[in-house]
Amino acid sequence: MLKLSDVHVYYGHVHALRGLNMTVEDGKIVSLLGGNGAGKSTTLKMISRLIQPKKGSYEMDGQSMLKDSPSKVVKKGIIHCPENRRVFPLLTVEENLKIGAYSRKDKNVKEDLEKVFLYFPRLKERVKQKAGTLSGGEQQMLAIGRSLMGKPKILLLDEPSLGIAPILVKEIFEIIKKINKDGTSILLVEQNANMALGISDYAYVLENGHIALEGHSKDLRNNDEVRRLYLGG
Ligand code: ATP
Repeated sequence: MLKLSDVHVYYGHVHALRGLNMTVEDGKIVSLLGGNGAGKSTTLKMISRLIQPKKGSYEMDGQSMLKDSPSKVVKKGIIHCPENRRVFPLLTVEENLKIGAYSRKDKNVKEDLEKVFLYFPRLKERVKQKAGTLSGGEQQMLAIGRSLMGKPKILLLDEPSLGIAPILVKEIFEIIKKINKDGTSILLVEQNANMALGISDYAYVLENGHIALEGHSKDLRNNDEVRRLYLGG
């Protein structure tokens, strides 16, 4: 279980996270929703230790993670799939996937490549293709596949629907559900609240660096304020 309590993050004078409290329970999909600049990406960067909070606590299974380096966090099974995918455009699909296993001690990656291809058959068909020539949706699949190669306990997904055709978004969200069913907890940052609430167990709404609202996803879907602000009426 991942737990953030009273987390404050600053970028210079910008107070980006203002006393954030949230929990990701084992085995769940948790959505983190909110408008532009609410602090969603900052939250993920803080969890993967790319940013140091000024105040607050951050624990996994009761142990503080605040002194851990980003690579230690990866070794503990928290893997960040960043916004805008960030695949290596000049490397092939296979090479990109293998990079995802870089931090692992065991180098038995063949089996895991096959697992990724079971989730994403499109990647198998394109295994020797340069990542830069994939469509946006396929690049997103590759980014998620690359994260899976690190064998995550908790997968942090930053805006997997961004700039992707609706039909592929649907496909990707179905696969996220499957990945979770197979045992990986997921923290899903999304502007597409409808899709995110559709697959998650629990959700937080971030406004201006703090949690304005939280609850079971199915309850938030029926919440008037959420419907008005994030679900288009
Ligand atoms: P979006 O959905 O638009 O990506 P977000 O909810 O992910 O937004 P963040 O990227 O976490 O928001 O940004 C939170 C706040 O911190 C914003 O006000 C942003 O301008 C500010 N911020 C983010 N990164 C930096 C930075 N490197 N330097 C200064 N301010 C930053």
